[in-house]
Amino acid sequence: MATRNESYDVVIIGGGMVGASLACALGTTGLRIAVVEAVPLSAATQPSYDDRTIALAYGSRRVFETIGVWHAIDAGGVTPIERIHVSDRGHFGVTRLAARDANLPALGYVVENRVLGAALLSVLQASSAIDWICPAAMESISIEPAAASVTIRAGEATRTLTARLVVAADGAHSTVRSAVGIDAERTEYDQSAIVTNVTASRPVANTAYERFTSTGPLALLPMSQNRYAVVWSARRAQAEELLSLPGDEFLAGLQERFGGRLGEFSRLGKRAAYPLALTKVREHARERLALIGNAAHTVHPVAGQGFNLGLRDVAALAEVLASAHRGGADLGAAALLERYARWRRRDNMVIANFTNGLIRVFSSDLFPLALARNAGLVAVDLLPGVKRGFIRVTSGMAGKLPRLARGLPL
Ligand SMILES: Cc1cc2nc3c(=O)[nH]c(=O)nc-3n(C[C@H](O)[C@H](O)[C@H](O)COP(=O)(O)OP(=O)(O)OC[C@H]3O[C@@H](n4cnc5c(N)ncnc54)[C@H](O)[C@@H]3O)c2cc1C
Repeated sequence: MATRNESYDVVIIGGGMVGASLACALGTTGLRIAVVEAVPLSAATQPSYDDRTIALAYGSRRVFETIGVWHAIDAGGVTPIERIHVSDRGHFGVTRLAARDANLPALGYVVENRVLGAALLSVLQASSAIDWICPAAMESISIEPAAASVTIRAGEATRTLTARLVVAADGAHSTVRSAVGIDAERTEYDQSAIVTNVTASRPVANTAYERFTSTGPLALLPMSQNRYAVVWSARRAQAEELLSLPGDEFLAGLQERFGGRLGEFSRLGKRAAYPLALTKVREHARERLALIGNAAHTVHPVAGQGFNLGLRDVAALAEVLASAHRGGADLGAAALLERYARWRRRDNMVIANFTNGLIRVFSSDLFPLALARNAGLVAVDLLPGVKRGFIRVTSGMAGKLPRLARGLPL
């Protein structure tokens, strides 16, 4: 069995949506980067670039524009979200958010995960600074004061990569995180999200819907040709049933939950279910190691925040690393990485509390709580200042924005 040793500035474990985005962001900084990805992007079993459709916040578009990936995403097909209609099934509260309320060209963009994957891959494979090592999986990691080394397996061969910094971008069940003993607190929601797509007979252009129901939120995101991506969160047992229903019965159930606002639903796409959990990690970084994306946090998909949060990890880490590299500093120094961790802690907490709060408040059937949340929806709808603040958080434009999210190069 052959073993080779290679050295890099940064080794990223996991080339999913977040890890690949970091590689693209660092591709022009002069750093030598390796991305280790276990599953080829074209494989049906690829866990990041699967059949899902993602809502990219406006702030994420800015990051992708600045790192030179947006044109490839746009060419693959995106649908702008100009309005979001938020409602509470069976109650009076409604909020209508519009891009013009916050002077933005769009609140977000609907993109198929596979389109995002192809765009990221095309940019990173064109960079001579990035080695894309795939399929290959991390087996072990050792962190020494001078460097970190990672053993990876690609088929029969093992390779050892040394780096000044290893970045864990290997998802919610991060092997890097467990190999180094960083604790993660995982709280299961008793919900799974069923993802599919449907055609609507009376579509409303560029409008997304978030409808809260007592068993979980239901989101419909606009796509091309009158299609909508559906993210239907339901209690786990109910989700199992929904998955196994014949197509016409599933469509009837969806129609009953959502109502007739978009006419009739037809042409049901493939269905898949994702168990949902809130994950918080004890440390975002330590000497020679940083965690990004789902390896650092998972949130409920209500309001489409998870990847957008991960992309802000990318923008913040890339900024800290690029500036350290220019100043000749050690990229793996604990003090440097603590700057990244401190920067990200607050945003993580805000989004975790926001998404968790929505789920808790909207899952309750208690009359006083239902009244209060509906009054809240009406208040957001009627108070322009509150509405603008809400849009800034959900579109990724709140708090201390990294340079890339402000359209500035690293
Ligand atoms: C139903 C649903 C809907 C969602 N909708 C939205 C949305 O609209 N907007 C939004 O912002 N977010 C959304 N999210 C969240 C979003 O999908 C995640 O935040 C995002 O996938 C995280 O990307 P990641 O790259 O960190 O992790 P992952 O997508 O899990 O990728 C991890 C990668 O690491 C690789 N890997 C794992 N272990 C190893 C190893 N040992 N060695 C090498 N490679 C390895 C895997 O093969 C994979 O490619 C949604 C999530 C769900 C479940």
